Amino acid sequence: MNTNAADQYQDIRDGVRDLCAQFPPTYFRKLDEDRAYPEAFIDALTKAGWLAALIPRAYGGSDLGLTEASVIMEEINRAGANSAACHGQMYNMGTLLRHGSEEQKKRYLPKIASGELRLQSMGVTEPTAGTDTTKIKTTAERKGDRYVVNGQKVWISRIHHSDLMILLARTTPVAAVKKKTEGLSIFLVDLRSAMGKGMEARPIRNMVNQDTNELFFDNLEIPAENLIGMEGHGFKYILEGLNAERALIAAECVGDGYWFIDKVTQYTKERVVFDRPIAQNQGVQFPIARAYVNVEAASLMRYKACGLFDAHKPCGAEANMAKLLAADASWEAANVCLQFHGGFGFASDYDVERKFRETRLYQVAPISTNLILAYVAEHVLGLPRSF
Ligand SMILES: Cc1cc2nc3c(=O)[nH]c(=O)nc-3n(C[C@H](O)[C@H](O)[C@H](O)COP(=O)(O)OP(=O)(O)OC[C@H]3O[C@@H](n4cnc5c(N)ncnc54)[C@H](O)[C@@H]3O)c2cc1C
Repeated sequence: MNTNAADQYQDIRDGVRDLCAQFPPTYFRKLDEDRAYPEAFIDALTKAGWLAALIPRAYGGSDLGLTEASVIMEEINRAGANSAACHGQMYNMGTLLRHGSEEQKKRYLPKIASGELRLQSMGVTEPTAGTDTTKIKTTAERKGDRYVVNGQKVWISRIHHSDLMILLARTTPVAAVKKKTEGLSIFLVDLRSAMGKGMEARPIRNMVNQDTNELFFDNLEIPAENLIGMEGHGFKYILEGLNAERALIAAECVGDGYWFIDKVTQYTKERVVFDRPIAQNQGVQFPIARAYVNVEAASLMRYKACGLFDAHKPCGAEANMAKLLAADASWEAANVCLQFHGGFGFASDYDVERKFRETRLYQVAPISTNLILAYVAEHVLGLPRSF
């Protein structure tokens, strides 16, 4: 298969594939059915060091680049698993790495690298603000050596499976800042001590197997030392992490895309209808071939975005475009795969419907396709800001 072509990351690909092979489709099917967290899978990935790829050696990680991290994510999704359970760790950790104090880094990063601590949650989205992040209403008010948090978040994932969460809250009212992007700050919240003591979580049952929640803050106290970076600069810090996040999500979509293409290619060659394999019909071949072409193209844009990121060059446009192209390509491949499985595409035992649901999410989260187009229109093409 072309989709298994060797490249310079073959060692990483082989290592992740070998590990994923220990977790058969039945494992992920059962988790999906039970809406359970992939504990054993995440533990194995952590023990093998894959989730510490971006952590510098000085803090116990393997100091790899975003390109290598993207290959890890791609291979996880391509193996039929889903990276959602672990990708948060990769880019949340990046925020701590870039903006945390030396003391915070020494305290948390080695434990995150070893798996003793999980930093897999990020609390940004709010019910009334939506994508308009500067309108968030959750506040963190400084009182002596603590911040007191009040407000509400929605869609916050892995709260019950992470030890730490990065929280975005307003520390200065909008009326008191020059620009609405100012006055927001980020904090490290110890979820183990917050739960039930100022923070409540209400799970939202949803289309995919993700523990995602509404969060309610009622005078949650956070030690002032848990502020990351400078007070009031949190929005900028979150934005800086987004390019890495988008490039990694793009890689996950590429992985999904290859999974769908492999699956449908194999199935259509074997399925005989009207006395011949359905793959012999151009009406079947062409949509599969087109989806494959689009996955390959999206993968190239992912490499471009990661390469620029690793070279410390601006990559906002490329990371956004990679995310859009890859999310579209994986969704196209998902539709084609489901279509040519006929009725069996709807049967859980074939895994197609599960992966179909999972890959659909990327059109909306963590950033919707429309907002990426708005970014390209404004920041690449110089068109007027539309919102
Ligand atoms: C399973 C799941 C897990 C999630 N996990 C997390 C998490 O861990 N942490 C977290 O902070 N968030 C999380 N989210 C939230 C996710 O990031 C948001 O749902 C996403 O950013 C879209 O925001 P919204 O739902 O508020 O949509 P809205 O902002 O209400 O937008 C709704 C739709 O309108 C369109 N739209 C909005 N404004 C414009 C515009 N100006 N021009 C054109 N179209 C526009 C968008 O395309 C979008 O599809 C998660 C969501 C899901 C579904």
